Amino acid sequence: MKWINENLYISPINTYIDPSKPVENAIITHGHADHAKPGHKNVLATKETINIMKIRYGENCAQNFQELKLNKTLKIDDVKITFYPAGHILGSVQVLAEYKGERINFTGDYKTKKDKTCENFEPVKCHTLVTEATFGLPVFQHPNEDNEIKKLLRSLELFPQRPHLVGVYALGKAQRIIGLLRQQRYDKEIFIHGALEKLCNYYVEEKIFLGNFLKTNLKDKKEYQGEIILAPPSAIKNVWSRKFEDPIICQASGWMSIKQRAKQSLVELPLIISDHADWNELTQYIKLTGAENVYVTHGREEAIVHWCKMNQINGLALSLSGREDEEDL
Ligand SMILES: [Zn+2]
Repeated sequence: MKWINENLYISPINTYIDPSKPVENAIITHGHADHAKPGHKNVLATKETINIMKIRYGENCAQNFQELKLNKTLKIDDVKITFYPAGHILGSVQVLAEYKGERINFTGDYKTKKDKTCENFEPVKCHTLVTEATFGLPVFQHPNEDNEIKKLLRSLELFPQRPHLVGVYALGKAQRIIGLLRQQRYDKEIFIHGALEKLCNYYVEEKIFLGNFLKTNLKDKKEYQGEIILAPPSAIKNVWSRKFEDPIICQASGWMSIKQRAKQSLVELPLIISDHADWNELTQYIKLTGAENVYVTHGREEAIVHWCKMNQINGLALSLSGREDEEDL
């Protein structure tokens, strides 16, 4: 990789992409906690990612922030940096680095499917693709998200007395689920756990339509009969959820396609809604980029590397640690 090493360090400009520890110069692809860490000296990111970092870690979570707009190129010494939308969550980008005529694109986390809560994914041609592979096994083929959200609405019709508690990660998934419900013309108020409030408010500030939502207040249990309540999966597992009378436990995640996983988390109604590319999206995108080299940062790396070899592409697993710990599943 010559000018980029396996820690996603761009040596000519002394800059890391999504570093796991505080560094002098960091480019941050998106606000999920396994990519955006506090404590860097200089951060280059989109306006939305900068704001999300400040909401989560505080105003001074980096010494300096520099915003780069989508599709605008910033020249740092001899390296050109351009952000392209990654379609993963609000503000998420792929980072294209160009040096001496060579183009290396870092996908960060991405999905190519359309999502009304963020900019849609844009493909980028490159010589080397550094990609995620969270769902990099042929068995992962995410179903249509509208059909999944309809399962939730059907359950509400069947069980109009029962509160529907939906486990969602606070950044990205919560807002996407609300957006998908609104697309199905569900116009009732949607209740949210307090941990989701700041980020939902921020999405609204950025003109993402979420309709009416309200923080839960558990004085009268009956209030929540037949309502949708979104909460982090951790809250659903703990005492907080016991305050609801006879709830149906749902969870929205790409991992819900693994039945065992849903069972283990005591999820009655799994919704397979992912913000990551599935196997087909991953392999189609690799082909589309025309990349000769593919480096896989995290996820099910072996299968993608094997697929690359079968397709005459150099593949290498980087096995970055600390990814997928939180948030963005
Ligand atoms: Zn993510």
